[in-house]
Amino acid sequence: MKGTFPITQFRQIETPFYYYDTALLRQTLRSIIEESSRYRGFCVHYAIKANANPKILNIISQSGLGADCVSGGEIKAAIAAGIPGGKIVFAGVGKSDWEINTGLKHNIFSFNVESIPELEVINELAARQDKVARIALRINPNVGAHTHANITTGLAENKFGITMRDMEGVIDYARTLKNVQFVGLHFHIGSQILDMGDFEALCNRINDLQQQLDNHHIHVENINVGGGLGIDYHHPNRLPVPDFKSYFKTYAKFLKLRPHQTLHFELGRAVVAQCGSLITKVLYVKQGDFKQFAIVDAGMTDLIRPALYQAYHKIENITCDDPQETYDVVGPICESSDVFAKAVDLNRCERGHLLALRSAGAYGEAMASQYNCRQLPKGYTTEDLLW
Ligand SMILES: *Cc1c(COP(=O)(O)O)cnc(C)c1O
Repeated sequence: MKGTFPITQFRQIETPFYYYDTALLRQTLRSIIEESSRYRGFCVHYAIKANANPKILNIISQSGLGADCVSGGEIKAAIAAGIPGGKIVFAGVGKSDWEINTGLKHNIFSFNVESIPELEVINELAARQDKVARIALRINPNVGAHTHANITTGLAENKFGITMRDMEGVIDYARTLKNVQFVGLHFHIGSQILDMGDFEALCNRINDLQQQLDNHHIHVENINVGGGLGIDYHHPNRLPVPDFKSYFKTYAKFLKLRPHQTLHFELGRAVVAQCGSLITKVLYVKQGDFKQFAIVDAGMTDLIRPALYQAYHKIENITCDDPQETYDVVGPICESSDVFAKAVDLNRCERGHLLALRSAGAYGEAMASQYNCRQLPKGYTTEDLLW
């Protein structure tokens, strides 16, 4: 056992694979519940797209969190994990008819609507099922987040949501439709946000919008502020449970909730990122002219974040304690971007050593592909390895 990894068991499993530390996941969930329940009306939904592994979903479902889904498949996964429809919210700019019907069938808490044509289709499909769909409008708040450009979502230039200028008109229109009920406003400004000032800016924007709606006597039952809380990729062991206390406190302090309003959160990364590691084996150590490569059996098909967003994952040699050397850690895929890290110091690597790519529980397994006819990586939990 090096660090917290059951390395003896690891040696008997085919690599690459994801390993999930379920004790850490449970500790994280306890912290979310403890810190959010300090405030009246705070409800947390887990953003399933971060990690839809059924074992992970079951643990999250048991903790009592709701779900944030961005596809019909995710609604099915949430239901299969035991999350009731009444705790499911459904966002996405391009909901297809079967996905909307799936949401209607399960009487979900709300459809987060991103356009007028979508509103009309939901109204029509709900009428066919003789139902009234609860809808929230996803508003683009034009609030920037200090994060990677590919993961900001709340700027006017992004494809998401309805503009603030159109908000009132769309609410008025929704109220003329018989099979939808306007219940809330939804926002989501981006991901991997560590500056609480970004969330504060969102609160201020929502306060202005609520004031505007108050002036027109438009009642809003709930506010949904999305997710986006980041984690410390550089120090996965330092504070493995994100600072949920400051996060919820920011909203409690700056957002002016109306009496009886509930406040909904959609946290993905912050729930699952730190509990997961991608475990991979060193296939070859190759000496280049100016550097050496540790060629591993995992690639961008297993963990695409470094190739897609230049994301950093801390890498550790969990087999060996020899003095450190400098490596480029690269995968076997036929793409130059299939690089996990450049010039990182690792305990000296040899063929057969296991490496852990840390903080890979979010947007790791969920984004895996079969490019190059590769197998999807399997995911194992702590419980799976108790033999
Ligand atoms: C992706 C997403 C989330 C979760 O984002 P995290 O950064 O993982 O917390 C929440 N809400 C919506 C609408 C999303 O698309």
